[in-house]
Amino acid sequence: VKHSGKNNYIFYQNKMKDVMNTKIEIEAILREALKTDGFKLLYQPQVDLCSAEIYGFEALLRLKDHNIRPDQFIPVAEDTGLIINIGRWVAKTAIEQFARWREKGLGEKTIAINYSSKQLRDKDFIIYLTQLTKANKVKPELIEIEITESILLENNNETMTFLAELKEVGFKITLDDFGTGYSSLNYLTYIPVDKVKLDKSINDKFLNLKNNRVMDSLILLAHSLNLKITAEGIEEWEQYLQLKRAGCDYIQGYLFSKPLESTEAEEIFNHIFAM
Ligand code: C2E
Ligand code: CA
Ligand code: CA
Ligand code: CA
Repeated sequence: VKHSGKNNYIFYQNKMKDVMNTKIEIEAILREALKTDGFKLLYQPQVDLCSAEIYGFEALLRLKDHNIRPDQFIPVAEDTGLIINIGRWVAKTAIEQFARWREKGLGEKTIAINYSSKQLRDKDFIIYLTQLTKANKVKPELIEIEITESILLENNNETMTFLAELKEVGFKITLDDFGTGYSSLNYLTYIPVDKVKLDKSINDKFLNLKNNRVMDSLILLAHSLNLKITAEGIEEWEQYLQLKRAGCDYIQGYLFSKPLESTEAEEIFNHIFAM
């Protein structure tokens, strides 16, 4: 701003105003959605590379009546604290969906839900989760909580206590967006995760013939720490074949399916993705 001329400055101000309006608008939309059942979850299959069956689903949040992506509204939910109630709605809806699928005789597959580090402020979240799994007779081992490395930047004692308690009551923990954050991977030896998810950007970067040793090494590293590994954002068969050869455990991506409405997920629930 310092070096901009007058016109640039005005331009900058206008742009700021747009951003502010948008944020306030999004906040209003989120508040409304919480009151009026305006959210829904989509479910994206995660395929087991050994059996070619669906191992589980990741629940992904959407606004029913607005074309605003989670990448836009989740940060607003985090800044405004709305993520606490939204996070509870996501957990409740996903666990009830699990029970509904079981009641329909479809079987039990894991459901992964995304957990924002800002939800650490929700002190009773684990109690809430536990009540939900009890009420719906869902085994906590079948619910995966996806965290990102950013949770390690929050109060670390708080984070470690939260993760230890989650494990203690039986939930699974997955480290999402693996490979995008910290340059040191040392934290993997002390945080109690069960699984890591290789980020799309990592897969896109290293899943080609010249570089696939990096991918092999990441998978070896995860396995040597007794972690399962999911590759996400997989769109091509070539990537699938390389990951299978390298010993990756699960794959998620448009190659198999985009995120689906719960009724669409039912239709492919027991599908086998044989080549
Ligand atoms: P994420 O957890 O890393 O989720 C993966 C994102 O990649 C999803 O975007 C998914 O639709 C997309 N994706 C899956 N397969 C492919 C593929 O093959 N190609 C491409 N290009 N994309 C693929 P989505 O649903 O827009 O969600 C974006 C982010 O918003 C999520 O990233 C997650 O960080 C956040 N988010 C979504 N739902 C929730 C939620 O319920 N709670 C919280 N806290 N965050 C959420
Ligand atoms: Ca995720
Ligand atoms: Ca991810
Ligand atoms: Ca992400």
